[in-house]
Amino acid sequence: MVSTLLTHIGELVTNDPAREGVLGQVADGALVIEGSRVAWVGPAAEAPDADERVDLGGRTVLPGFVDSHSHLVFAGDRSAEFEARMAGESYAAGGIRTTVAATRAATDEQLTSQVGRLVAEMRRQGTTTVEIKSGYGLSVRDEARSLAVARQFTEETTFLGAHVVPTGTTPEEYVDLVTGPMLEAAAPYARWVDAFCERGAFDVDQARAVLVAGAAVGLRGRLHANQLGPGPGVRLAAELGLAAVDHCTYLEDADVDALRDSGTIATLLPGVEFSTRQPYPDARRLLDAGVRVALASDCNPGSCFTSSLPFCIALAVREMGMTPAEAVWAATAGGAAALDRDDVGALVVGRRADLMVLDAPSHVHLAYRPGVPLVSGVWVGGRPT
Ligand SMILES: [Zn+2]
Repeated sequence: MVSTLLTHIGELVTNDPAREGVLGQVADGALVIEGSRVAWVGPAAEAPDADERVDLGGRTVLPGFVDSHSHLVFAGDRSAEFEARMAGESYAAGGIRTTVAATRAATDEQLTSQVGRLVAEMRRQGTTTVEIKSGYGLSVRDEARSLAVARQFTEETTFLGAHVVPTGTTPEEYVDLVTGPMLEAAAPYARWVDAFCERGAFDVDQARAVLVAGAAVGLRGRLHANQLGPGPGVRLAAELGLAAVDHCTYLEDADVDALRDSGTIATLLPGVEFSTRQPYPDARRLLDAGVRVALASDCNPGSCFTSSLPFCIALAVREMGMTPAEAVWAATAGGAAALDRDDVGALVVGRRADLMVLDAPSHVHLAYRPGVPLVSGVWVGGRPT
């Protein structure tokens, strides 16, 4: 097996809890890759020999970002809606229906090429693992094919038939479809099941029915909740012991307590608040209460069309009370925890060698230099891409 030494790393972020600090950094570090895995981590002065040697000239190395929430399978363009929103119109969940019509009309090839383009865009910005949801098909055929398209790019696929009730059906009829024939068609292509638990989408009983039906066929649950206002979704996620509940913008004290006690990850999606001009979630409150926090893009054509986790980190630091180290952890190890993955999100011996090189002296520059393309290299499974 070929071994590669990456050396002269100015700051090596490991996320190793056995090392000091939130990020377990090693100054003037080195890392050895064997095959697709990390084989050694430590100070450059103590590094063992390897077949190949890459001198990183003092740059920063971090684990690749784990983007645990995206909606990449869609067609159509909603920039006019964004433009109108910036001119004063408010965001409503119903805008999803616009994308549904365009997605149903698109061919498999068009959807595949769109997802491929966006995954490549994410990769260039340091994302090495991405979760992709369905949710713009909303018919048995279109949900199943959306997931089949997503599956070509990631194992982390999520069935989100319960995104919004499509026109021409009642909520009751639609939940029966989602928990019956649609779930049956989608399950072979999905690892996760999700629902949009929000006023204007699905209520807590409907969301529970979807999650329970998914669990019965082996899909693990995650949930969109408390994005547009307070509600029972976060407590439902905690009660069911879901891996993650996403958005968490409007939280009551009981929600925060439930998250802390259940260990369910709160995935914050600040690109959405940026793009919908909503108040940001209070990450500081969650962290101070002992809740684990992840950051993800929520890349989607309606409420947030960014694929950039560096941008989300900058927002989390500037607007949500997170330190740069907490925000970087949330976008790497936090994302891995939100996907229940123990092979990514950290650079420790035995994990996948998924990493990025930053053309900067430290991780702080991700927040300090917003909008600047600092990612100068991305390695996936031990190989540069
Ligand atoms: Zn979402």
